[in-house]
Amino acid sequence: MKILVPVKRVVDYNVKVRVRGDGSGVELAGVKMAINPFDEIAVEEAVRLREASMATEVVAVSCGPTACQETLRTALAMGADRAILVETDAELQPLAVAKLLKAVADKEQPDLVICGKQAIDDDANQTGQILAALMGRGQATFASKLVLSGRTLEVTREVDGGLETLALELPAVVTADLRLNEPRYATLPNIMKAKKKPLEVLPAGALGVDVAPRLRHTRHAEPEARKAGIRVADVAELVSRLKNEAKVI
Ligand code: AMP
Repeated sequence: MKILVPVKRVVDYNVKVRVRGDGSGVELAGVKMAINPFDEIAVEEAVRLREASMATEVVAVSCGPTACQETLRTALAMGADRAILVETDAELQPLAVAKLLKAVADKEQPDLVICGKQAIDDDANQTGQILAALMGRGQATFASKLVLSGRTLEVTREVDGGLETLALELPAVVTADLRLNEPRYATLPNIMKAKKKPLEVLPAGALGVDVAPRLRHTRHAEPEARKAGIRVADVAELVSRLKNEAKVI
């Protein structure tokens, strides 16, 4: 069984994101980038399935500029067997990424695709869902547990009211939620080994996909600064302020 794991290069989650002075976007110059945290969880789950002899190959794929090779090397150091970079400097929105991933999936014929549930830069939460639709495969989003038996994948997913369990026939697309697992750290020997694993570069233009953006960003702005709190003298004042001044935002 082959598992395809799409991984995105995003601003590291520890970085405080700043809007560019001219409001044209988020400042990326000199900013630390990393693998999207949900994609790390997806890689971990795929590697665990291979370690449990339920999968034979884990292929990581990233769409974006040359620098995404670094993201792919992280996935390889975590245990992915090989990687594919769909290279482009164009701005990619979820629909475009899903189309590129569909083209890769047509070539690779994976039994299972495990995406992250969302990328922490755009928070779109769309790519896995669009990809499943384009591939005509079943999908289970926000997975917190996967149990594979034969060609049936039982997925526990987190929904507003609690947990829901779905059974999917492979091939299928799953998106990983936070509680699916705790990803391993890439050890130094594995980082060294990852440098020798195969990484194929496919120019996005060669896949015959229209990646033109469908959305236009008109302006970016920092959120309003939070106002300072006040100290009340006693409970009576607190109750009075809550009654007369507090608003539901
Ligand atoms: P999004 O729909 O942008 O929130 O992304 C959801 C998931 O789609 C991510 O967690 C990745 O697994 C995958 N994905 C999004 N963008 C890319 C990309 N440029 N390259 C590879 N995978 C991506």
